[in-house]
Amino acid sequence: MINELKDLFERNRQWADQTEAREPGFFSRLLKQQSPQYLWIGCADSRVPANELVGLLPGELFVHRNVANVVAHSDLNCLSVLQFAVDALRVEHVIVVGHSNCGGVKAALNDLRVGLVDNWLRHVQDVRDKHRDWLFSIPVELRIDALCELNVLEQALNVCQTTVVKDAWLRGQSVVVHGWVYGLHNGLLQDLCMNVSGPDDVVPAYEQALQALYRRVEALQAAQASAPTPAPAPPAPTPAPAPQAEAESGAEAESGRGRRRGREASAEVPPEA
Ligand SMILES: [Zn+2]
Repeated sequence: MINELKDLFERNRQWADQTEAREPGFFSRLLKQQSPQYLWIGCADSRVPANELVGLLPGELFVHRNVANVVAHSDLNCLSVLQFAVDALRVEHVIVVGHSNCGGVKAALNDLRVGLVDNWLRHVQDVRDKHRDWLFSIPVELRIDALCELNVLEQALNVCQTTVVKDAWLRGQSVVVHGWVYGLHNGLLQDLCMNVSGPDDVVPAYEQALQALYRRVEALQAAQASAPTPAPAPPAPTPAPAPQAEAESGAEAESGRGRRRGREASAEVPPEA
């Protein structure tokens, strides 16, 4: 364990040396001032490293992260970051960034019990319940990512409704609120078309982004419906004896349903944020 931590210090020294070699005076300049243009509000998931995936250096991105990128009206932590970013640093863009297959969203969607975080994820369940009719009308395999995107839109809406952003707009300060989602499977960011630059934009931008989400999910459903169905496997004349670890029982073994169900059930346990 101690060796592993020593390794982190060694990597840090190399990173500092390389950064300074690439840009002499980098750290002494940062010491005097940070002037990020962006506030990133994202998920704590280790697979979504904010600076790296947009190629920004230290000093260029102000960051707040929590499980499932929630912006709760009463969360003094998030609100304090937002207030400092907008009032003191004068960031021009506040970006709520969710990500596909978010473990927190998955737990919220399926009422999974994880622990204390269940109480935090009630905020995501509020989003689920607000959009329940639509969400539960789409195929189950599309629901997690659909709720990830709905959650981004609702949390971006929450940013717009804070006193911090409303006051900034009132005094004519330029602040644009955005909603993005990051694809864990391809490393790409997607703009959810919610870009709000003033109080009059809030509702139209939210409605427009919601309609765009509905259309994306409809297109996915259409693509699924038109995909060729695989030909059924011919029945085996005599069942071969299965290895112990692979053995399944009865009808489930014939169709493979048991194995599929096992995978689905294990995928619902969220090891990630
Ligand atoms: Zn997440």
